[in-house]
Amino acid sequence: MDVIEFMKERKYKYLFGPVPSRRLGQSLGVDLVPRKVCTLDCVYCESGQTTKKTVERKEYIRYDDITRELDDWFATNSDPDYLTFSGAGEPTLNSRIGDIIQHIKNRKPHLQVALITNGTLLSDPGLREELMDVDLLLPSLDAATQEVFEKINRPAGGLTSEEYADGLVAFSREFTGEMWLEVFVLPRINDHEQEIRAIREVILKIGPDRIQVNTLDRPGTEENLVAATAEELEYFVKMLDMDHVEIIASPGENRKERHANADIRDAILSTISRRPCTAVDLGQSLGLPEDEINRYLEMLKAENSVIPVRQERGLFYRLKN
Ligand code: SF4
Repeated sequence: MDVIEFMKERKYKYLFGPVPSRRLGQSLGVDLVPRKVCTLDCVYCESGQTTKKTVERKEYIRYDDITRELDDWFATNSDPDYLTFSGAGEPTLNSRIGDIIQHIKNRKPHLQVALITNGTLLSDPGLREELMDVDLLLPSLDAATQEVFEKINRPAGGLTSEEYADGLVAFSREFTGEMWLEVFVLPRINDHEQEIRAIREVILKIGPDRIQVNTLDRPGTEENLVAATAEELEYFVKMLDMDHVEIIASPGENRKERHANADIRDAILSTISRRPCTAVDLGQSLGLPEDEINRYLEMLKAENSVIPVRQERGLFYRLKN
């Protein structure tokens, strides 16, 4: 079976997992936009280059199609720790996100809903209203000046770092759920003193519950990017000089159950269709020994379904397009 047949045969087109997430435990992912519709084209994006860069909100994936899959999932599976809007693109671009959240809350009032967003559209009061029932918002903020914003995040035309920051601040004042803000550190791009101070000023206004400092651990869209070292991350944290700051740890430790809904081959393809992974990542993700994963990767390589890419942290595998 080639990759295209595999994608066609997957039971769920818009649901993914549940997979162990470094931040959310067992998380069932929900895609609200096709790969890769986004307001940004971040240099470090794990999902490759943005193919449709836009700020236009539309029903990119139909409400009916998403809720049909969700209802099927709810009827046949136990609840995950989180239901998370994530995927390869910006979920808030889907103009029915508010209706989908309400659908979930009506069916499963106790289920925690998380939203991983770049936060660029939060300056829209209508969108902010739609997101009020989210339990955990995970926005990102990598820059506080237009120059660095353009360098790292390469925004769609018209988006400014000022509007971006103002949207996050406005949302944080109205929102009663948890907010964990992620800052992605790229050496020599956003880790100089002036930028860190500017980021700090914005974060102080937002007042998130947690600040999670991250860096590259898999290939981004630009090959010459390097990950921040432990010392560089510690310097960044020291310069932020705030409470509730953490450097995000590696995934895998908090896995509660094995991925049991697909066979290993499909699970591997499904996982790396979202983001490149090493054999170790896949082993942790799927709860399988590395040599078992390697056996499947060799097979997938031989049939031209995946390609290896060497990076500092090891050999990553991507889907062969
Ligand atoms: S990292 Fe997120 S916000 Fe940035 S381009 Fe990728 S999907 Fe979009």
